[in-house]
Amino acid sequence: MEKETANKCCCGSSMQSSCQTQNNNLCSVCGKQGTLVKNFTVKHMVLDELMEQVGDNDYFLCMDEECSITYYDTQANINFNKQQVKVPIWFKADANPKYVCYCSKVTEEQVIDAVLKDGAENMEDVLKITGAMKNSQCQKNNPLGKCCHQIIQDAIDKGLAMKND
Ligand SMILES: [Zn+2]
Repeated sequence: MEKETANKCCCGSSMQSSCQTQNNNLCSVCGKQGTLVKNFTVKHMVLDELMEQVGDNDYFLCMDEECSITYYDTQANINFNKQQVKVPIWFKADANPKYVCYCSKVTEEQVIDAVLKDGAENMEDVLKITGAMKNSQCQKNNPLGKCCHQIIQDAIDKGLAMKND
């Protein structure tokens, strides 16, 4: 049982040469690579009472669907979980509601409905019907701090695929 973790370290593998830097980006719970998110965004995402703990570093967002960790900073050894952020992270397993546009609070369901029930076929139609991407402040409202355009497009594609089934 002892030293079990040592065997899992990629440093022991001859295939890995840059393991030090790679390790810095891995979620300590699921061990997967996260996506870099700016400090500004993280401060807006975590619960108000936890904001002071955020510090000044940028964070990584764990992209694993099943993992309960959201933002983490491996340098300062800080993890925030799903309960410690203000909004459901859309790609996490039990996210409810599943927002595609956080600024206008438009859900994936609304986008799919626009495609299936209102005949929307593209981004322009969907934005008109759902009101998504109005008054965009994605840096503050989107968990990745990025424009939600691609997430909406993915939802449209999902809707179109359902329609063609
Ligand atoms: Zn994780």
